[in-house]
Formats: sequence, C-alpha cells, structure tokens
Amino acid sequence: MVTDCICLWCGRSIRYEASFREMFQVEDCLCSRCRHLMKYDPGTFKGPGFRFEGLYVYQGQVREMMLQYKENCDEALFSTFLYPYIRHLNRKYHGYTVIPVPSSEEMVTRRGFQHVRKIFSVLDLPVRELIVKTADVQQKSSSRRKEIGTYFRLKEQQLPEKTKILLVDDIVTTGESMGACYRLLKRKYARIRCLTVSYGKQFVKNAKE
Ligand SMILES: [Zn+2]
Repeated sequence: MVTDCICLWCGRSIRYEASFREMFQVEDCLCSRCRHLMKYDPGTFKGPGFRFEGLYVYQGQVREMMLQYKENCDEALFSTFLYPYIRHLNRKYHGYTVIPVPSSEEMVTRRGFQHVRKIFSVLDLPVRELIVKTADVQQKSSSRRKEIGTYFRLKEQQLPEKTKILLVDDIVTTGESMGACYRLLKRKYARIRCLTVSYGKQFVKNAKE
C-alpha cells in the first residue's frame, strides 16, 4: 500500500519514501530534505545557575519552524521537533515527569494551544503543569528581564517531593525564564533536570559535557 504523505514544511509529496517508511514504521511528517536542514547539535550547556540539555541551535530552519509554530499558531508542526529524539529522550528521562515552562494565560488563549506541552506530548512521559506565568514580559528589555522571576509562581497543587522533574521549554536564549522556574522548583524538589528543544547561539561556545 502506498501512503501518500505531504511534508508539513515544504508541502512536497513524500510518497516515494512510502515503502521505506512502512518498513521502518517511520511516521515523520517532514521529508528527508527538510529534516536534513534542521541543525542537530545536542549537548549539555551552562545556563545562569543551572545546566540544561539542548537539541537544536535556534537558527535557520529550526528558528523559522518554531516561529511558524508558536507565533503563527501552526499547531500541526508540534510533532516535528522531537521526532528524531523520541527514543533517546524516552530512555534518558524514563521515570521523570515533564514540567513545561509556562506561557501566560493570555498567550495560551491567543495561540489556542499550549505550545511547549504539545511538543513534549510525543514522549511517553507524564506532563504536569506545576508553574503559572502571571504576566508577559518583553525579554528584550534588560531592566525588566531581571524581574522575570517575579512573573512565575508555583501552583498550590504539587507532586510528592521525591518526584523526578524534567523542566522543559521550546527555546533557551537568555536562560532567565528557565532559571526562574528552576529556582522555584528547587524549593520543593531535589531531582531536577532541564531540557530545551532549541538554544541560542551564545551557548554553543560554552563547554559541552
Ligand atoms: Zn519538506
């Protein structure tokens, strides 16, 4: 049986790959050409006060796809980001509970979906919302950036203290948002790891582990 499939990014038919795709049960929604253009550069990096694992450098096609996904609300792209990493992440973070760095309620309403939660929904890991973002801040304004921690708070309902936490986000640029959420969670949980889909170029020069 030939499965007709359209690449979610370039719109080309990926029908010619059908036999290969079926044989290996590939369910990638990108053609091999678009997949190849995503710059994989996984590693562990130093953020302000925490370490995180990052999967792609936030540039080129990854940046364009992320903007299309979250700013133009193109929800269908959600599965494309983690697809090549699913097995690796399921294995590495087995036993962890995924906690997304939250968007404000206003942003979630505008988009119509929780973009970080949706990206990580492809993993076999439970996802819980433990943090609330009470307002939006322009991260580009450095004076306000310092205050960003005051825009996050822990929800009343929390998990048992021994829960292994995987704090996740779509992008780490300054690291302020993830750092603020990390510090909040640290008050309650002893085991926290941090993971982001993409990271800013400035982290590339930081030593990888
Ligand atoms: Zn394509």
